[in-house]
Amino acid sequence: MTSRESLFGLEGKVALVTGAAGGIGAAIAHALAEAGAEVAVHGNRRPADETAEAIGAQAASFSADLSSSEGPEQLYRAVHARFGRVDLLINNAGMIHRDAAEDFSLEDWNRVLQVNLTSVFQLSQLAARDLIARKAPGKIVNIASLLSFQGGIRVPAYAASKGGVAQLTKALANEWAVHGIQVNAIAPGYIATANTEALRNDETRNRQILERIPAGRWGQPEDIAGTAVFLCSRASNYITGSVIAVDGGWLGR
Ligand code: NAP
Repeated sequence: MTSRESLFGLEGKVALVTGAAGGIGAAIAHALAEAGAEVAVHGNRRPADETAEAIGAQAASFSADLSSSEGPEQLYRAVHARFGRVDLLINNAGMIHRDAAEDFSLEDWNRVLQVNLTSVFQLSQLAARDLIARKAPGKIVNIASLLSFQGGIRVPAYAASKGGVAQLTKALANEWAVHGIQVNAIAPGYIATANTEALRNDETRNRQILERIPAGRWGQPEDIAGTAVFLCSRASNYITGSVIAVDGGWLGR
């Protein structure tokens, strides 16, 4: 066994990555598979079949709408039925809805909170219950945001949900460390995905954003994937309850 395999290898592990049809989730799924994990990739409106096919035999694709309170359990049960367990859970699926705070409807608020925060709690709880029963170690990695720290403009539900993801990460880490389950989060900066296409196409906003990022470039989904592999691996066994910014220096500025 090489030192790379022993520290970062994920052979024998089963991972569930939500929102893995494209963007950050797909990049994470590929990287976990490359490190040796079997990977359950989840999609919603856009199926994750292409991600699963590109990875090959060690991946399978699942579909669930996480905006319904039943979606997380249906997804978890389907993955469990196929793979028999989940050792690594990557809560990546997320949505954003833009509106002035005074006009924001309760329906939109509830949907964003269900997808971005409540489903993260539900899936984490389902995974942890099984891990605790099996007395097995596990890793949960939540995808937070710069808006876990900052308020943003016209995205009150997104900011509240991602702030909640950071706090939930710490709360779960505190309770489950004793069971050998580490819970951490990654706060991506500005990453070039479908989510941020409109921003990148707006010349003024694009320039303003680039001027503010010390690294001077948009992040790529692969920039997040390495941190996810690290947080899923033995190399991070003593890290729990952390929210790690992967933002080209944005927050430090
Ligand atoms: P993306 O490609 O749009 O990924 C978002 C994923 O979440 C999609 O696969 C989407 O599936 C899924 N999703 C949305 N609503 C869902 C629902 N109701 N049920 C199940 N799945 C749902 O964008 P991304 O940038 O890679 O985003 C991934 C994560 O990173 C999100 O949590 C996002 O908030 C976070 N993030 C992104 C950035 C960035 O700059 N890109 C920055 C900070 C944080 P469908 O489209 O098929 O519904």
